[in-house]
Amino acid sequence: MSHKLPELGYDYDALEPHIDARTMTIHHSKHHQAYINKLNAALENNPELHDKSAEELISDLSAIPESIRGAVRNHGGGTANHTFFWSIMKKDVKISGSIEEAINKSFGSFDAFKEKFSTTAGTFFGSGWAWLVTDGTKLEIIGTPNQDSPLSNGLTPLIALDVWEHAYYLKYQNMRPDYVEAFFNVINWDKVNELFTAANKQQAVSTK
Ligand code: MN
Repeated sequence: MSHKLPELGYDYDALEPHIDARTMTIHHSKHHQAYINKLNAALENNPELHDKSAEELISDLSAIPESIRGAVRNHGGGTANHTFFWSIMKKDVKISGSIEEAINKSFGSFDAFKEKFSTTAGTFFGSGWAWLVTDGTKLEIIGTPNQDSPLSNGLTPLIALDVWEHAYYLKYQNMRPDYVEAFFNVINWDKVNELFTAANKQQAVSTK
């Protein structure tokens, strides 16, 4: 089985004006596709890994043969991270439900959460990602370099923001903070709440 570019689930212009159609088109059809092609190339001579999803591969990097571990980390990460990123974006969804309560409880207020997330995303040096993650019990904001994924550290992603320049440069140039601010208009809080609820349930089961 080779990995394939997933559908976005919405049109390239669906997140306008916050994330522009041209950026979305290139980001999805060129950048994401390139990670997938390179992941497939890395796995070519390892048929025992062909049935594993990109998420499964990066969740257990120690199980990947050393000769391709770096490539799987980068391109498996690039494959999974972008798939996840597309899935948590939708315009004009209001925050509600258990994720709202958990954010208020963990960070003090939504504004405090937003400020902390924006600082992580806006000041992260070089290429990488900003994340809201959970270990099943608490929320945490982290940054990862390159295409590293929280899945490799046993954490469940709830929100991802791509802060590679290719994610924003066409519209925002060097103004990464403006891109981060705009991202807050396209977080699909219904989806994030679903992920959060599922992660909590899973934790409840595994600690029984
Ligand atoms: Mn990207």
